[in-house]
Amino acid sequence: TQAPPTVSLQALFARALPEMAQPWQAEAAPDPQVLVLNEALATELGLDPAWLRSGAGVGLLTGNAVPAGATPVAQAYAGHQFGQYSPRLGDGRALLLGELTAADGTLRDLHLKGSGRTPFARGGDGLAAVGPMLREHVTSEAMHALGIPTTRSLAVTATGRHVVREDLLPGAVLARTASSHLRVGSFQLARATGDPDLLRRLADHAIARHHPAAADAENPYLALFAGVVSAQATLVARWMLVGFVHGVLNTDNVTISGETIDYGPCAFLDAHDPATVFSSIDHAGRYAYGNQPVVTQWNLARLAEALLPLVHEDEEQAVAAVVEVLGRFEPSYDAAWSAGMRAKLGLPEDSDHAPLRDELLGLMTRDHVDHTSFFRALGHAARGDAEPARSLVLDLGAIDGWLERWRALGPDAEVMDRVNPVYVPRNHLVEEALAAGTEGDLAPLQQLLDAVSDPYRERPGLERYAAPDPDASPGYRTFCGT
Ligand code: AMP
Ligand code: MG
Ligand code: MG
Repeated sequence: TQAPPTVSLQALFARALPEMAQPWQAEAAPDPQVLVLNEALATELGLDPAWLRSGAGVGLLTGNAVPAGATPVAQAYAGHQFGQYSPRLGDGRALLLGELTAADGTLRDLHLKGSGRTPFARGGDGLAAVGPMLREHVTSEAMHALGIPTTRSLAVTATGRHVVREDLLPGAVLARTASSHLRVGSFQLARATGDPDLLRRLADHAIARHHPAAADAENPYLALFAGVVSAQATLVARWMLVGFVHGVLNTDNVTISGETIDYGPCAFLDAHDPATVFSSIDHAGRYAYGNQPVVTQWNLARLAEALLPLVHEDEEQAVAAVVEVLGRFEPSYDAAWSAGMRAKLGLPEDSDHAPLRDELLGLMTRDHVDHTSFFRALGHAARGDAEPARSLVLDLGAIDGWLERWRALGPDAEVMDRVNPVYVPRNHLVEEALAAGTEGDLAPLQQLLDAVSDPYRERPGLERYAAPDPDASPGYRTFCGT
């Protein structure tokens, strides 16, 4: 089967950067079944959802029948994983099918994950299980609905092949879109080859796709770096505000576009606590909730190192220039986070909210206060009903004093309700939906998707999706994986 001529995939990355693009094919899916299809995204891409469910469409979603002229490739990259440099990572179980032009004229990568071993697979089997691919689907859609830059999931398709993990699990392929799959690790690889032309082509490609204004700057490559620093600072601030923990912020999982990518052992906070770690392999807490800003800055320093030869021929001058730009991360992050916190508290721009904010976060940490529920409940408190917020806190003396001082600043409940979500993909709900989906029952996943796809609008009948886990047990872990 061949896709109809409407699906037109370019090979911009593969053509511009052949050294980093290994032409490859997806492994055959013996019995493909679409488990979940993102019809809204399909429409945005100019793809007909009914066609995507047809034989030819499923061929595209699994990589088993790609449009004529497409050049699927496994992308090569390097990266620091938990601080250790790996010179050769790359898509071990993923393929870039190519770039397509969405209905709005923007370019999007169409990429598959779980499509079989590639030359970068090392010891891996190249496969993905249904559960983790459904986790990426629901979490990335929740992030998108929250207004946070992210890759999107177009579909999860069961392959009909089993995957060996601790158990034998059903396998799946995730089809996702991204404004590109360029990573900090892509630049690390290009730099490590020692080929200045490759590094320059990669940077030019990144400028064209993500930071076109940099092309006209006095120093385009320094401007590219500044664009990435700014995009990442804003991104991580958004994560912190909603309580998102990425879980594996290796340099190969940090995009040049500023989109969230590679949803593995990620999760949303229940109780607010900077030390929260969900990943079962993150023993030292390197990627804990509260470490995400500093670790992102560390990752951007690795990007700076990779870009040095492009920034200035004199290394000392190059270093000075990137250090100056890297120094903008902290103020950019602080400004974005501070403005976001002020909105979460509903306070006017000229209010001195920082002391109140810091006191509240300390109290929330000490009392294990549910992050999402508390900020939403504060909206009720702004309207005069403090009980929902008070009921989440143990130290009533402290919260009552705090509420009084906060109310005196005139919080605006309507502003708060636009930025404090009711529904996020809570861990116990995600686990329930993944377990059912693995058994072939997709109803819980659909219900969760319905809730988190419209996160700021409280709706009757969805109380369960707004509430903390009634059986909350500390120490929830997500498994890296796969
Ligand atoms: P991640 O941390 O999930 O982004 O993956 C890190 C690296 O491991 C990437 O190069 C992946 O392509 C690769 N990888 C992860 N899981 C598998 C697998 N099951 N088979 C082959 N490669 C994998
Ligand atoms: Mg990755
Ligand atoms: Mg993984």
